Amino acid sequence: MINQTIANAERELYLTLLELAQQQPSAYEWLKQLPTWLGDIKDKANYAHAPAYQAAVARLPELTVDNVDLDNDVLTIEASLSESQRKQIVALLKQLMPWRKGPFQIGGQTGDDESGIQIDTEWHSDWKWQRVVPHLGTLKGRRVLDVGGGSGYHGWRMAGAGADTVIIVDPSCLFYHQFMAIRHFIGAADAYRTHYIPVPLEALPASSDQGSQLFDTVFSMGVLYHRQSPFEHLQQLKGQLVKGGELVLETLVIDGDTNTVLVPHDRYAQMNNVYFLPSVAALIGWLEKAGFSDVRCVDVDVTTIEEQRATEWMTYQSLADFLDPNDHTKTVEGYPAPKRATIIAKK
Ligand code: SAH
Repeated sequence: MINQTIANAERELYLTLLELAQQQPSAYEWLKQLPTWLGDIKDKANYAHAPAYQAAVARLPELTVDNVDLDNDVLTIEASLSESQRKQIVALLKQLMPWRKGPFQIGGQTGDDESGIQIDTEWHSDWKWQRVVPHLGTLKGRRVLDVGGGSGYHGWRMAGAGADTVIIVDPSCLFYHQFMAIRHFIGAADAYRTHYIPVPLEALPASSDQGSQLFDTVFSMGVLYHRQSPFEHLQQLKGQLVKGGELVLETLVIDGDTNTVLVPHDRYAQMNNVYFLPSVAALIGWLEKAGFSDVRCVDVDVTTIEEQRATEWMTYQSLADFLDPNDHTKTVEGYPAPKRATIIAKK
């Protein structure tokens, strides 16, 4: 069965890259690989849940959407919902749990939390956006890459802030389908500016030392500490930027001087894939060493158990369970509790 929502998204992505290739031939390298990327994510040999996720997206009903509010903390798709539509949509979206990045509202009016479906995600991703957005150069008219964009919440916000084209890359099969579920309702309302390629950053073409150089702004938020080779990640981000483009990097940090870096021996806040947690000073040094200029830290923030918590849409353990119950300044492993820095730099 053809999944119309995903087929439409794929078509718009092809068209966007084709158009881009007229100006920037490196986009042809992306076009060459696109069939493989989009095919692989459907392959249940690689992603056991892919067919079930696809089926959930395919069964979402059509709504008559009045308005889409991408510039609101609760990303809202305004529509009137019948009670049976509401039940059906909730049941299907719950098949795509856990919902980690949001919040979203489907149905009702902006600011009315009674009438629509509230997808209360584990993370208040809107709080991160509020911390980051005042420090950015304008996104208006820009081509933007969001590396590790999760469900796409921030990507939609980037479109809401006026970006011309947003491409999210993230290898998560679940998050890809969550994006498609939201996109199903948003449809043409964002003028097909927001796209998702389900691959990791390192799969993107960077065949020459120059990289693709396709983007005016590149975001990498919440990804660097998951990478075993932070300098490779920084080089890959740089390769995607045009000269003079802006990098927005958000990652976990610890207190300390230019020589302070924590490499958790085992788990960190129960995550088993955490590698390098530098101090802000060390992180700035890394970016300069990687060849970025005008490197500045614009925000440092300790993550609270109000920002990251279990909800009806993410029922597993969350931050409160990963902190020392007697001392919330420490993780259960005894490391400093999660603190995040946002760095802005120029290529
Ligand atoms: N950027 C969002 C989500 C962060 S969670 C935010 O800041 O809230 C980290 C995300 O990075 C996950 O969705 C994970 O699938 C993705 N990720 C992990 N390794 C990646 C890689 N190598 N390239 C791109 N995304 C990656």
